Formats: sequence, structure tokens, C-alpha cells
Amino acid sequence: MRLTLVVPCFNEVDVIERFHQAVSRELAATDEPYEVIYVDDGSKDGTLEAVAAIAAADPSVRYLSFSRNFGKEAAMLAGLRHAGGDAVILMDADLQHPPELIGRMLELHGRGFDQVIARRTRAGDPASRTFFARSYYWLINKWADVELMDGVGDFRLISRRAVDGLLKLEEYNRFSKGLFAWIGFESAVFEYENVKREGGRSRWSFPKLFEYGLDGLLSFNNKPLRAAVYMGTLLSLIAVAYAIWVVIVTATQGVTMPGYATLIAAITGLGGLQMVMLGVIGEYIGRIYYESKQRPHYLVKETNLTPPGVVPGGPAGPAR
Ligand code: UDP
Ligand code: MG
Repeated sequence: MRLTLVVPCFNEVDVIERFHQAVSRELAATDEPYEVIYVDDGSKDGTLEAVAAIAAADPSVRYLSFSRNFGKEAAMLAGLRHAGGDAVILMDADLQHPPELIGRMLELHGRGFDQVIARRTRAGDPASRTFFARSYYWLINKWADVELMDGVGDFRLISRRAVDGLLKLEEYNRFSKGLFAWIGFESAVFEYENVKREGGRSRWSFPKLFEYGLDGLLSFNNKPLRAAVYMGTLLSLIAVAYAIWVVIVTATQGVTMPGYATLIAAITGLGGLQMVMLGVIGEYIGRIYYESKQRPHYLVKETNLTPPGVVPGGPAGPAR
């Protein structure tokens, strides 16, 4: 069995060398043939040069480099497209995904699981982040069409047929957690202790996490649109009832003037609600807009794969 390791890297020059040594040791220990594909996502700190040097010294290393930063989703997609293995492991370059787990993943894969998922514990995370994550997963599992699990990221082994399934999903807005869940297949989950980043910086600030969360909610269902329909219906019913009441009062007691508070509350409340609904509709239209442009997910600047150049295919989220 041939194994492909796909590693997206963005400004990881501090750790990439150490990462490569660590995974090479683990991969050699598995006694399976393997290749490592480094996808440089438009790094500006010399990651590309480091990766090219690693590739020059190690024939099992392949790499490609994007013309700019297209995002991790695009980098993973590129790696998956070029992966030749019977199984693919997706792994971060920052050593937060312990290379020691590769053996465990292969073992579970050998038992017939198409996806072997490593789930991190939340040890060491700030309490606020844990709280938001928990609430978010509760919400998304209530709403979205796919089931997502807290602590599950992109660190996983994917079998060839599951990779082929993933590659059929060509959407531009790639919410990979959802895509992995969407393809299905038998999956095994095991836990590992959360690891702190060893160097470089995480790309996740709170606003970015918020946007990512929103992406997840919107990418996999049209329930927000449904909610708008229900809310609108409910409000219309209330409005009709209120109108009837006003007419009755006017007919029986003549025109009475009070009602200022009701008026202002209704105007501001409904105004706000309408803006929110418009925003929801706008989000979906924005997605349609990006999909309809049919742009490639990424452009390749340099690679030791052949042939280099523009990789055809569907659309990766707008650069964020
Ligand atoms: N990454 C990438 N493109 C980006 C941002 C990140 O390829 O635009 C890579 C990064 O080099 C790392 C992985 O994605 O290998 C995870 O990134 P990070 O550690 O910043 O995320 P976190 O671990 O905090 O979720
Ligand atoms: Mg990380």
C-alpha cells in the first residue's frame, strides 16, 4: 500500500525542517512506500525555499507552490488532487498533529475504515474558546445537513475511494469539515492530547473563527432561508391580528391617538429583522456569485511535479 502525506504550509519556515525529520522517521517505520506532498500556500518567509531544499535531498518529497495565499482549503485540495497513494493523510506543518499517530491511523485503516479521524482534546485552550466551540457545535448539529464533531479537524487518513469522492466536490466555498462529513464512508475516531504550536503563528483570530463558523452554518443547508420564511409568516399573522384589533378599537371607541411606543418598537424591530434577513439572502447570493465565476481554486507558481502551470478544475473560498 502506498501512502501520501499532504501538508499545507503557510509561513512555516521555523518548523518545516523539524516537521520533515519527524514525519520521515515515522513513515520509514511503517515499512510502506510513501510520498510527502508539501503545498506552499504563498508563504512569504522562505518556506518555499526550505521545501525545495527538502525535496532536493529526499526523492519521496514532492511540492507545489501557489502564486499567492489561497487558503488552507485550496492547499489541501491541491495536495489531494496530486496524491498518488492508496491512502492519504492530511497533516498540518506546525507539529500540532503528532507524527507518532501515523502508525495508529494506518492500523485502523487496515481494519477497513475509509476515514481515520484524529480528534484533539481541548486541553490547554482558553475556557472562552472551548465554550464558544461547544455552543457552536451544538448549534450546527441542530441545523446543518451533516454532522460535525467538536475537536475534529483536518488531521485524518482518507482512503483512495474517499479521496476520489472528495475530489468530486468541486465547490468554490470549501468548508472541509462539512465535505469530509458529507462523503460518508466508515470512519474511526480516536483522541489525542492537544499540542501547542511550536513556532510561527496560528491564522485563527476570533473574528476569523466567527466567519469560519458562519461559513459552516451557511455552506451545508438552507435552513437560515427557511427560518426567514417562518419568521415572515409569523410576523404577518401577528400584523393581521393587530390590524383587526386596531380596526375594532377604532370602530367602537373612535380614533384614539396613543400608540407611539408600539409604532417605534414595530418600526425599529421590523427594520432590524429585515436587514438580518437581507443579510442572510446576501450571504447565499455571494456564494452563488463565487461559484458562478468558475475560477480555479488556486494557481501554481512552482512545483517539482509535472506538468506545472494552471491546474484546471472547479473553484477554494475567496482569499480570506
Ligand atoms: N495554512 C495554509 N494556508 C493558510 C493558513 C494555514 O496552508 O492560509 C496551513 C498552516 O501552514 C498549517 C495548517 O494550515 O500547516 C494549519 O494552520 P494553523 O496552524 O494556522 O491553524 P490551527 O492549527 O490554529 O487551526
Ligand atoms: Mg496549527
